[in-house]
Amino acid sequence: MGFRPHPSTGEGLTPRQIEDNFTDLTPALNATQAHVEAARCLYCYDAPCIKACPTAIDIPTFIHQIRTENLKGSAHTILSANIMGGTCGRACPTEILCEEACVLNARGEEPVKIGALQRHAVEALMAKDGTHPFSRAAASGKTFGVIGAGPAGLSFAHRAAMLGHDVVVYEAKPKPGGLNEYGLAAYKMANDFARREVEFLLGIGGIRIEYGKALGKGVALAELRKRHDAVFIGAGIGATNALGIPGEELRHVRDALDFIEELRQAKDKSAVKIGRDVVVIGGGNTAIDAAVQAKRLGAANVTLVYRRGEENMSATEWERDLARTNGVVIRTKAKPVRFDTGSATFEQTDSKQFTLPADMVLKAIGQKLDAVAFGALKIEGSKIAVDPNFQSSIPGVFAGGDCVTSGVDLTVQAVQDGKLAAIAADKFVRGG
Ligand code: SF4
Repeated sequence: MGFRPHPSTGEGLTPRQIEDNFTDLTPALNATQAHVEAARCLYCYDAPCIKACPTAIDIPTFIHQIRTENLKGSAHTILSANIMGGTCGRACPTEILCEEACVLNARGEEPVKIGALQRHAVEALMAKDGTHPFSRAAASGKTFGVIGAGPAGLSFAHRAAMLGHDVVVYEAKPKPGGLNEYGLAAYKMANDFARREVEFLLGIGGIRIEYGKALGKGVALAELRKRHDAVFIGAGIGATNALGIPGEELRHVRDALDFIEELRQAKDKSAVKIGRDVVVIGGGNTAIDAAVQAKRLGAANVTLVYRRGEENMSATEWERDLARTNGVVIRTKAKPVRFDTGSATFEQTDSKQFTLPADMVLKAIGQKLDAVAFGALKIEGSKIAVDPNFQSSIPGVFAGGDCVTSGVDLTVQAVQDGKLAAIAADKFVRGG
């Protein structure tokens, strides 16, 4: 559903319209649709879709299980590789991962809707009786400490708990889920899915979360290393980069992630303040999430400005199309040079300047690691340095997700990092 002007004023939206604008962007498949879609899969030998999935889910097998009415088995196949398969079925950019690799593309056909099928199987299991599908190995007597209850930290915690360890997760915010809870567009994670998924994940047992704690805020790395047999850092990355231009400190210039968080946590989205003329700066999925949501909240004009060409944007073509169909204007090859009250000025690559009306500016220009909090850990570039087993420069301290360089900058990669790091940490504490 796109932007709909208020019937009387032509601007803004009624609370009811806003509520409608944040329902599920792509409604779930029903049983018949899922069955028909599953029947399209060719169950390829050496399936390219598996190789394109960062968590290497056995896609043809789980699709075959849907087709043969074995939804529980299908969910088990997915979740054994990716415990956050529910979020990934909703929010993964499948168009550049598994669905791009699907062999049906080469036949000129639409790829199998792998993401929608994945969501179908996982949500069926979660809705059925909520029973956790995995059990824990015999207690190891070891404890693991985890910094951050985002996708990487929770994935690590779940796998470590499965392997028999007791896990304490230290989380700065009042809720778990990380970007799934705070940083993805509301219409991708409708019906409180992030919270329900974490509850489901914690059903494994053996995981305790302590809120209001982060490195440098209630806990220190050296102390955690002493307290636990192994530590995993899945803290994401910290503050948004600064543009360093005049006017950046003005009140109407905000971080896009803060705006998204406010919107995600608002009980009444119509109470969230939105500008009339909104300018979003950036070229990634966060920029698109902010721009589309600004439009769906009732902004009259939303312009997304990116410094390079559209082909360089990390937001996928699907995301860019979503923005355009929601009325967002995309301008490229221009960088901001100044913000003033009510306007934002940009310079094009040909040095010409233009000014846009802007009573709200949202910066989505990436974040940087707060290296100070990581004490003696070796930092490489702007991330924590890790070996192929996700072990940092301190033995027994592992790291994964956005705070390391491991692959694509996505939830699915964070889940994979956490899973592999837990397997490596298990070997470490067992002396392997
Ligand atoms: Fe099925 Fe496409 Fe994967 Fe082949 S590539 S197994 S058709 S989803």
